[in-house]
Amino acid sequence: MMTYIEPAPIKDKENPLESMMSRFDKAAELLGISDEMYHILKMPRKQVVVGLPVTMDNGQIKVFEGYRVIHSTILGPSKGGIRFDMGVNIDEVRALAAWMTWKCAVVDIPYGGAKGGIACNPREMSAGEIERLMRAYTTAMLNVFGPDEDIPAPDMGTGPREMAWLMDEYSKAKGMTVPGVVTGKPLVLGGSLGRTEATGRGVTVSALAAMEKMRLNPYRATAAVQGFGNVGMYAAALLHERGVSVQAISDISGGYYNSGGIDIEAAMQYRNANGGMLDGYTGAEKITNEELLSLAVDVLVPAAKEDVITHDNAADIQAKMIVEGANGPTSASADDIINSKGIMVVPDILANAGGVTVSYFEWVQNRIGYKWNLERINRRSDRIMKDAFENVYATSQKYRVNMRLAAYIVAIDKVASTYKFRGGY
Ligand code: NAD
Repeated sequence: MMTYIEPAPIKDKENPLESMMSRFDKAAELLGISDEMYHILKMPRKQVVVGLPVTMDNGQIKVFEGYRVIHSTILGPSKGGIRFDMGVNIDEVRALAAWMTWKCAVVDIPYGGAKGGIACNPREMSAGEIERLMRAYTTAMLNVFGPDEDIPAPDMGTGPREMAWLMDEYSKAKGMTVPGVVTGKPLVLGGSLGRTEATGRGVTVSALAAMEKMRLNPYRATAAVQGFGNVGMYAAALLHERGVSVQAISDISGGYYNSGGIDIEAAMQYRNANGGMLDGYTGAEKITNEELLSLAVDVLVPAAKEDVITHDNAADIQAKMIVEGANGPTSASADDIINSKGIMVVPDILANAGGVTVSYFEWVQNRIGYKWNLERINRRSDRIMKDAFENVYATSQKYRVNMRLAAYIVAIDKVASTYKFRGGY
């Protein structure tokens, strides 16, 4: 059995969503968008709150609250995950939906942004209870979801299993199989090859592109990766494959450092045989997660959770670049310190967009009724990530701003100019 260790609370925790909005505000100001446009972009298009009565295994009915917020449909149908977590509330869902709008716009995929969630604790629920809840939520959202309207995906607390139930329930209601209503499905139900590694792969493409700009030879470069889950593990493996010496990795059990480079293949095998944890890994010296962040490496990849680089530890960062695998790992209050040290940051909405890009490919394959092979998927997602990086980099040069603000400028400009062409009432 995997044991869950609650992470120590971070002092003076900042709200990553407020951090995101403060950067949005700054970019909107730099871009000089009108007050009108600012409000058009900020206000979500649709916010749905539903009560979901579900029969629990003990026979009693429990009512859950479910949400779906469509922030924008200006670029296309809205896209965004469904989160099952006790902390889910409408404000969080609203902010996460906006985050999806900017992320899709940065990588230039034809989607707006959305997010959904249910306040529940899936760890304390049986598979049957989760299934009934997912099916009830899908039925409640029949008029919201749709392959041309709003396409959900997994997020915290949900995965391919839940997406399969959603697809099945939606399809039953429509009287036909509609695989394109949701992404992140199991492969046999129309999921895409390459989705599992996609986010880590995109992080690697971003890191290599940034190294090129900084004239760093990957074969002489070093990296530290925080988090050894879906994003961090594949980012570490692919960086290693491209010649980068990954000197440190970490997870909730702590950090692992080897100046000669960690054998990532061996670490992955250890983790997979050890309930998904690095705890007890002996191929490296044990350090703390805090120490990992301040190592003198070229590339730092925070790929665990939000708010790990703050104004308290930003001054200690020695890396030449930070490539944000996680969402919101750097708080807004750390931005100035990081900038003044000349560290290049490849921001989350760009660096971790490889996942939503391959989700988009899943939807495209579902719609054309054809499966692409892994080679085609990787080639196309690498191209999208590289083009997006170059676009953001050129924007950062043009406006003389850092990569984060440049990414928001690219996104806001794209959505605002598309709105102008489409027009309103
Ligand atoms: P995951 O649950 O697979 O892995 C998280 C990893 O971080 C685990 O190894 C865990 O032990 C570790 N971790 C947790 N708390 C930690 C702490 N306090 N210190 C050090 N390590 C800690 O999650 P994931 O899917 O890899 O997601 C990681 C981050 O990337 C999240 O911020 C997520 O929102 C973001 N993200 C994920 C995807 C995706 O496709 N999976 C896409 C975009 C963004």
